[in-house]
Amino acid sequence: MTLEKEKLNINPSVKVKLARLGLINFQDIAFHIPARYDDETKIIPIKKVEIGRVQQVEGLIVDVKVLYRPKRNLSVYIEDPSGVLHIRFFNFYPSQAKTLIVGARVRAVGEVRSLKTGLEMAHPRYKIIREHLPLPISLTPIYPTCAGLKQLTIRRLVKIALSHISKTDTLTDSIRDMYSLMPFAQALSVLHNPPPTDDTQAIISRQHPAWRRLKFDELLAQQLCLRIQRRKRNNFKAISLPEGKRLATKLQKLITFELTKAQTFAISDIKSDLTRTQPMQRLLQGDVGSGKTIVAAFAALQSIEAGFQVAVMAPTEILSEQHYKKFHTWFNPLQLQVIWLTGSQKKSDRDIAYQKIASGECNIVIGTHALFQNKVRFKNLALTIVDEQHRFGVGQRLALRNKGGNTAQRIFPHQLMMTATPIPRTLAMSYYADLDVSTIRELPPGRKPVLMKLVSRDNKEKLIRYINQVCNAGKQAYWVCPLIEEAEEKLGGKSLQSAEKTFEELYKTLPDLSIGLVHGRLSPDEKSAVMTKFIEKKIDLLVATTVIEVGVDVPSATLMVIENSERMGLSQLHQLRGRIGRGRMESICVLLYQEPLSEIAKDRLKVIYENSDGFIVADHDLRVRGPGEFIGVKQSGLPILRFANLEDDSLLLEEVAKLSHKLIMDDSSIVQKHIDRWLGSKLPYLEA
Ligand code: ADP
Ligand code: MG
Repeated sequence: MTLEKEKLNINPSVKVKLARLGLINFQDIAFHIPARYDDETKIIPIKKVEIGRVQQVEGLIVDVKVLYRPKRNLSVYIEDPSGVLHIRFFNFYPSQAKTLIVGARVRAVGEVRSLKTGLEMAHPRYKIIREHLPLPISLTPIYPTCAGLKQLTIRRLVKIALSHISKTDTLTDSIRDMYSLMPFAQALSVLHNPPPTDDTQAIISRQHPAWRRLKFDELLAQQLCLRIQRRKRNNFKAISLPEGKRLATKLQKLITFELTKAQTFAISDIKSDLTRTQPMQRLLQGDVGSGKTIVAAFAALQSIEAGFQVAVMAPTEILSEQHYKKFHTWFNPLQLQVIWLTGSQKKSDRDIAYQKIASGECNIVIGTHALFQNKVRFKNLALTIVDEQHRFGVGQRLALRNKGGNTAQRIFPHQLMMTATPIPRTLAMSYYADLDVSTIRELPPGRKPVLMKLVSRDNKEKLIRYINQVCNAGKQAYWVCPLIEEAEEKLGGKSLQSAEKTFEELYKTLPDLSIGLVHGRLSPDEKSAVMTKFIEKKIDLLVATTVIEVGVDVPSATLMVIENSERMGLSQLHQLRGRIGRGRMESICVLLYQEPLSEIAKDRLKVIYENSDGFIVADHDLRVRGPGEFIGVKQSGLPILRFANLEDDSLLLEEVAKLSHKLIMDDSSIVQKHIDRWLGSKLPYLEA
């Protein structure tokens, strides 16, 4: 039932605000679960308050004054038999100053911080206590809200919503028994109005059985949805590509190294997928440098040997060119036609490429987004390979897939997606439950871990002298800067080093070295020229922006300096340092930072300093950034989990995964009911 139909006295401006929170109907409001609860059922002696938690204290005002530091504020000191607490109001009305007077009794709820000057509570909710005022007997729910929408308004609406919606349980008694789940209606009621007898701590920390039920339901809806999608995909058809031995054997002989076990397993997973008449949908994940490209090459050969074309898509020009060169080296001796397609090619070159792709003369085309332009017509595309797939949106992957598909007959090419940003298992199970995953968890033998150094910018001169030495000894180095232009330099007040400026500076101070500069504003030809020089060792020191972040592979580079490392994300730092340590020589990555470091920045640098395993780094990153940003869930259209949390609830997720599998296999009537309740109109766009 919508809010419209029900003649409720809801102010239109309130409706707008509700909509901003995604609350359109009663069902939405009933599922608008408190973000947290404040415990106002007890008063904590000042001496016993815990730092960083919201708590309630009560005391007599012993002093009131207006302070001017850090900025104008009304400072109220309250005392109880155990101690004194400083309460600050940065914005205050004259009327407040009138009631907050020495001798008055105050009851305040807020987060306590510990400062040099003592314990402090800023902007608490408070009451002046004039006569006996009993404490509430249950927790106070605090709802997620937006500016101008009062907690009291939400509480009132929740109450109405709860009386209107259907609360029948989507799960049967036996399922509830099996997974020890509280009835749905009861869980909802406990979470909105925690009864005084329940374990308040468990409710606050989201461990209460009521939370368990809601999280379970939410995860179940997500899992069911993904599995239905997967099932739908099984109705799609693909060209079965029989396993051919001829080309693979030749390539095997051609490469100078032996495949690792993990690579061999991944290749065999893919080989058997490709023989099927349903499209492969496989994610190949492996840390930077783990050797995913050669795996992709073997996959490509299977398609080519069966007489079909392959498309390889990479997110940047530099990377696509590098792939082109690699595939060319591997495939040219096999008499295969490899074509490189980019947005920046001369029109005449591109037209020739289009023609060869359409005629089938070209066996494999490698390119950037240019691949799914209208003019690109394949003769018979049977496999698409997407490198660094998280860089592409769902729409782009679909566009490429549709190039080879016959939507009417539901025939689609096989898809291999690759990523060096490893996906933590829980995330893979939840957001990628409809993909098959192959993981390369071992690096080729002989790789030495990259040695990490943390260096303050104050020591930059020493560092530059060191680079001079290293490069004069015949090694190569990267110097990575976050931004390229002076104009962009002032970011949050701190100055960021720009690549151009750094280049000029290094050029002056290191006259003996050959120094190159590469950044996103160069034309692809210019970029490629610089990279080629670097690969050919004609450049000793390459100053670069993060354009080199993904995929670039120059084994002879053994030193990397990352400027303003404190501003970069964990995965980005890990990707960057993955550019070195690719050969047999010891490599060093210098994280140059600007003091003072915030606590968050310190933690981040510590993680990167202490962990070389991309999977561990990714887990930390997940914790910091949340799953949404991590895999571009916003782009993928999947609903983000609101209640369950992939770190804390991984065991629950395992149970849910089992149940969802069973429900789908049994064609249970629960499936639709449950999805409708949880996702209803918000059913995601899940075609990828
Ligand atoms: P990524 O997984 O990051 O894409 P690449 O495919 O670029 O890694 O491989 C990194 C480097 O390791 C390349 O130079 C590649 O030729 C080399 N390589 C790949 N597999 C092996 C192996 N089994 N043994 C030795 N070197 C390998
Ligand atoms: Mg790669």
